[in-house]
Order: sequence, then C-alpha cells, then structure tokens
Amino acid sequence: MINHRGPEFATLISDLTADLKKVFGTEGDLVLLTCSGTGGLEAAVANVLSPGERTLVISIGVFGDRFAEIATTFGADVVKVSFPPGTAADPQVVREALAHEPSVQTVFITQNETSTGVTNDLESLASIIKGEFDKTLVVDGISSIGSMRCPVDEWGIDIAISGSQKGWMSPPGLAMVSVSPRAWEVIGKSTMPRSYFDLKAAKESAEKGQTPWTPAVGVMFSLKEGLTLMLTEGVESTYRRHAHIGDLTRRGVQALGLELFADEPYASNTVTAIKMPEDIKWSALSNLLREEYQLVLAGGQGMLSGKLFRIGHLGWVSESDINHALAAIEKALASLRNDITLAPESP
Ligand SMILES: *Cc1c(COP(=O)(O)O)cnc(C)c1O
Repeated sequence: MINHRGPEFATLISDLTADLKKVFGTEGDLVLLTCSGTGGLEAAVANVLSPGERTLVISIGVFGDRFAEIATTFGADVVKVSFPPGTAADPQVVREALAHEPSVQTVFITQNETSTGVTNDLESLASIIKGEFDKTLVVDGISSIGSMRCPVDEWGIDIAISGSQKGWMSPPGLAMVSVSPRAWEVIGKSTMPRSYFDLKAAKESAEKGQTPWTPAVGVMFSLKEGLTLMLTEGVESTYRRHAHIGDLTRRGVQALGLELFADEPYASNTVTAIKMPEDIKWSALSNLLREEYQLVLAGGQGMLSGKLFRIGHLGWVSESDINHALAAIEKALASLRNDITLAPESP
C-alpha cells in the first residue's frame, strides 16, 4: 500500500477521477467513496434530501425498492412508482406521477435493474424528468455505467452512482458518484444528517488529492487497471461488446428452450434473467452447476427467489465464457430431467 496522504496517492486519485469522468461523460464533479454500491445510494439520499421531504422513487425491482427503503429510513416522505418485475418504467406513467406530485424536487431511478435483467429507457425518462418537469435526477447506474451508454451531462443526470465490482472489472469496495452543479446547489440546502458519506467533504479532500477517510487503496489500483482496459478498448466499443454478449446470451438461452424473464425489448446487456423452468428447482440446478461444472450463477432476489436465475455478463466476459455457461446449463438441465423421469423406473 502507499501513503494515502502522500503524493503518489494524489496522482492516483486524480488520474482515476479524470478517467472515470470520461466514462461517465461528465465535466461535473466525481467523488470516490469507500463502500459498496449501496453506500453510494445512501450518500445520494443523505446529501440531496431533507427530513420529511416528499420525493419520488421509480422502481422496477429490488434495487429500485432499495432506493425507496433508504430514503424512507432517512425520514423522507417517499412516493414509490412501481412497475411489475420484468418490465421497464413506462414513460407515460412516470409523466402522470410527476404531474400529480408538484412538491417533489428529486427523482430517484435505476438505469439497469440487476434483479430482473431489465434496462430502463433512461434517455426518454430523463427527458421527461428533466426536460418536462425540471427535477433533480439521481440515477443508480451501478450495473450499467461503463457497460452501456449513460452520458451523464448529455442526459442531465445530477447524481449518477456506480460500483467498482460491476462493469469496472475490479473487486468490491468503491462507489463512484458524479455530482452536477445543480446537485451541489441542492446539497447546499439539504438538512439531512450525514457524516461518513458527506459528499462536500469528499470533494474538498479530492481537491487536495485525498479522501476524508482512509480509502480502499487496493481497489483503486485495480480500478485504474480496469479503466485502462476500457479506455484502451474505447468506451463505445466496450458498449458494443456488451450488446453483442447480451444478444448472444439471450439467443443462447432461448435456443435451450428457456424463457427470458425480461420484457425482451428492455432486456439488459449486462445481466440476463431467465424464468426457472417449472419442472426444475433452482437449488438443484445451482448446486449441480457449481459442483459439476464450476459455474456460479445467481438466483432470484427477494420475491423472485426460485422464480428465475441470472447470468451476469458485464466486464470481462467473453463469447467463450457464455458458450461454456450455456453448454453447462444445457447438460445440467438434461441430467436433472433424466433423474426425475428415470428414477422411478430404475430397479
Ligand atoms: C449491485 C447493485 C447494487 C448494490 O450494490 P452493492 O455493491 O451490493 O451494495 C445496487 N443497484 C444495482 C442496480 C446493482 O446492480
């Protein structure tokens, strides 16, 4: 490790911030927080809102619900607009909700809902939230920024959050949070209590090449490597690669006779959610895949437990990784089905 109050660290954090701002597409500020992605969500809530403030959260799944839970915990008066799992937010419904809630100042939304494998049409939604209603816009881009388009300044996003362990090819431990000039104005007026996650303190320290508290220095080294890979490949080409891998995964699972959980036009290019076939238990499939095929997939979260399983394909995932995964799923399903149909007949 290096001294996090020394000149080498100042160079590291300033290089990292400059590279991250390129990928986020922002000329505004960007701070690094030592925490998982959820810490970044909490930072947004604790810096932008005030106790009792009416606010709107658009949720299409577990992570949208998490934004609402954090804001409620902090004492905000949350109006949650939810859409059924597997679907994206309907712009017309969002427009109507905003028209009904004139006192709302800030809107929270997830770009890519990792729990259902759905990507919102954030460009259209942002044009309503910002363009038509001029609200402060906070985006959970944890599983999307760096892997698909999310040009922060172009779409008018005031606070965008990502996390090191998603598309950035790094271990968990850092959240990146972009902050627009308008967000700083709102933060200046916010009376929410905050301490560790004080964004103004993070910005002031960053100006001196530091962080307020000891940062995850080791993760920063990894993040620097991840960013070098992305910027060498070129961000547009990174997005195209994710779109291609997403498409390959979707076509592959459908060719196995499986159904996508997501409404297909909104299916995510970073994670594919697949409906659990009715004759197979997730626990049996996941154990077999892990033990026999060294393949670790994710199940459903919360209410979706047992109803779907998910293939993550963000960051350093190749065609051959996906092809291996699909082949393993095919064999595992066949062997589980044989067990079920053949077992009663065997002597
Ligand atoms: C992973 C994820 C989070 C939570 O991040 P943690 O690092 O687990 O705290 C939040 N939102 C989305 C969309 C995610 O994919």
